[in-house]
Amino acid sequence: MRKAIVAGNWKMHKTASEAVELVSELKPLLTGVEVETAICPPATSLQAVHAALAGSAIGLGVQNMHWEGEGAFTGELSAGMILAAGCSYVILGHSERRQYFGETDEWVNRKLISALEAGLRPIVCVGETLAEREAGRIEEVVLGQIGGALMGLEADSVTDVVWAYEPVWAIGTGVTATAAQAEEAHAMMRSFLAEQLGAEVAAGQRIQYGGSVKPDNAAELFSQDNIDGGLIGGAALAAESFAAIVKAAL
Ligand code: PEP
Repeated sequence: MRKAIVAGNWKMHKTASEAVELVSELKPLLTGVEVETAICPPATSLQAVHAALAGSAIGLGVQNMHWEGEGAFTGELSAGMILAAGCSYVILGHSERRQYFGETDEWVNRKLISALEAGLRPIVCVGETLAEREAGRIEEVVLGQIGGALMGLEADSVTDVVWAYEPVWAIGTGVTATAAQAEEAHAMMRSFLAEQLGAEVAAGQRIQYGGSVKPDNAAELFSQDNIDGGLIGGAALAAESFAAIVKAAL
């Protein structure tokens, strides 16, 4: 039985003090709620948020990382730095990184290898654009991104990977995939994972849905057989809505 996981991707929102305020509102709302939950604030808030999360089961993560351990990579963070900042999760291959920062499947693969070696729990994002969907290329694009991320990795090293199916046309647009559209993509992903990694590993891997998840659509999405929680952008920026979405995964 897979446990749902709900993660908040705060993107480039919240100063450190705003982030602490949001955490202080969120903590009481999620006390005792037994859903694996993580928040991924901007790197400038990690230290303050880590301290603010003391005593809470909410996990901490980052939105990106570099695959190298250290070096001349201006603006980047390594897995070791992220761990030392108290993080357990890292979002990899988000469509905004692919679209605006040229992130490729090969980079996602290197980052995934580095994150797993460090003991971080990666959340690997995949998803098609509207043009790709309309051209009937969902399978080619989404499975290509998964295959690219897994290149050279053995099945037993990727059991902890969390996948996030995030159709690009649904991110930040207010247009959510219907539960049926999302479930169809998740089921396709899981059968591809079974081919790549074996049925047992694939059956245990969590696949989140992301793309305009809100309190009023979360329960229907999360109740689908192959949807194991969500990766939440805009609705993670307010305590009430994020807590309601987390509770929808119970
Ligand atoms: C995201 O950026 O991962 C996301 C799902 O955003 P939103 O919920 O705002 O669509």
